[in-house]
Amino acid sequence: MNVKVYILARPHFDESYRTFLREFLPSGEDIWRESDESTPAERLVEFAGRICYMSFGPRQSPSTNAEYIRKLIRNGHDSVLEHAVWTVLLSGISRAFSHQLVRHRVGFSYSQLSQQYHDESATRFLRPAELAQFPDLAEIWDRAVVGSQTAYREILAGLAAKNEHLNDRREAVRATRSAARSVLPNSTETVVVTTFNARSLRHFLRVRGNIVGDSEMRCVSAALLEAIGPEGPSLFFDFSIQHPPDGFPLVVPAPNPSMT
Ligand SMILES: Cc1cc2nc3c(=O)[nH]c(=O)nc-3n(C[C@H](O)[C@H](O)[C@H](O)COP(=O)(O)OP(=O)(O)OC[C@H]3O[C@@H](n4cnc5c(N)ncnc54)[C@H](O)[C@@H]3O)c2cc1C
Repeated sequence: MNVKVYILARPHFDESYRTFLREFLPSGEDIWRESDESTPAERLVEFAGRICYMSFGPRQSPSTNAEYIRKLIRNGHDSVLEHAVWTVLLSGISRAFSHQLVRHRVGFSYSQLSQQYHDESATRFLRPAELAQFPDLAEIWDRAVVGSQTAYREILAGLAAKNEHLNDRREAVRATRSAARSVLPNSTETVVVTTFNARSLRHFLRVRGNIVGDSEMRCVSAALLEAIGPEGPSLFFDFSIQHPPDGFPLVVPAPNPSMT
């Protein structure tokens, strides 16, 4: 599988917070002692958490950023994690996978390649990795998708000719592609831009990352954790990637964050 995650946008933590602290708190209490090693996403989450209790200056505990965020997670103050937001482009994924992805409604936004506005005549199909070691089955699969693609092209060309008389060209093309796409398989490659936050990604990884029989979901989950994890290690400290003998990664959440 060749899933790719391109990070298009990531948290930026602006230094304007200093002005706010100076204006809001008495002199001497307006200081936030920060951990040197934290990322913009981690700084943002810690700052948002501290705002709730105005725990700056003498009210700040000696916790590091990592300790602070782990405590938030342990205590279930997950809403603070929603401030850390990323936008990524996913490629090398199938329509079967994207259909599962978009079931995640809360804290996710999506923009997906349209099969009505885009001609899919040259689309690629993603052969399930499970077939790689069985050439006889791979050959059946190859034949099926070639058949689908041929049918797609023939229906597209045939309907376009029959719809030539229609005045509304835009809707005629939409109708033609809509009919033709109905023969494309679940393995048709797609592209999705998705925006999520640390909380919604954590939920996704927890419920999707270690479903043993879903290799594509496992690969995408691992690719997401590999891409986003370093952006905020403390936000994902309780997830790890395992590499079992079947060759597909598993994203494994710690059973209880408080135990790690
Ligand atoms: C192993 C597996 C098998 C599945 N099989 C099927 C299947 O056969 N058919 C199928 O249709 N789907 C299936 N799903 C999809 C599943 O039902 C969910 O739609 C999907 O996992 C999204 O989960 P979610 O609702 O928790 O996520 P989100 O939509 O991102 O929601 C996140 C959380 O917000 C809360 N929430 C969201 N919406 C509401 C609401 N309306 N009311 C109250 N709380 C809300 C819940 O706590 C939820 O967990 C499967 C999922 C898995 C992991």
